[in-house]
Amino acid sequence: MTRRALFLDRDGVINIDKGYVHKIDDFDFVPGIFEFCRQAVEQGYQLIVVTNQSGIGRGYYTEQDFRTLTQWMLDAFADKGAPIQKVFYCPHHPTAGRGNYLQDCECRKPKPGMLNQAIGEFGLTAEQCLMLGDNQSDIAAAQAAGVRGVKVKSGGADYQALAALLL
Ligand SMILES: [Mg+2]
Ligand SMILES: [Zn+2]
Repeated sequence: MTRRALFLDRDGVINIDKGYVHKIDDFDFVPGIFEFCRQAVEQGYQLIVVTNQSGIGRGYYTEQDFRTLTQWMLDAFADKGAPIQKVFYCPHHPTAGRGNYLQDCECRKPKPGMLNQAIGEFGLTAEQCLMLGDNQSDIAAAQAAGVRGVKVKSGGADYQALAALLL
């Protein structure tokens, strides 16, 4: 089977984007995401999340809060037969970050840093990757990495229709 990777933005793609979601109680999965991701795995895709989390840098929640929520999310995907290989996140913000989080970094989308890192780490080529995002910055990051980006409706992607992309 072809070696490929599906890059997923988190907020708006995996869960409903309520703004700076950082608690399990506030994390509502977008309908159809598990089935879509399971189909992706069956089609030979590795699942990789790439998410801007400036709420960390802004001081709205901690890196530990994020890791706790992430582990819970990973368990949920694994339970559904759609294991996520890795979550890349950017905690920085160029103007609102506090302390060391105040950075005009290379990882915050629309920059391609997280995608390039994932491509390197997983030994992929950009042509083997597909990125799903609900913001223009996701698509810009994908394009900057040479990856095909597909914009989906935030919190309401038609994952049944999108499954055709995976073939
Ligand atoms: Mg998003
Ligand atoms: Zn960053």
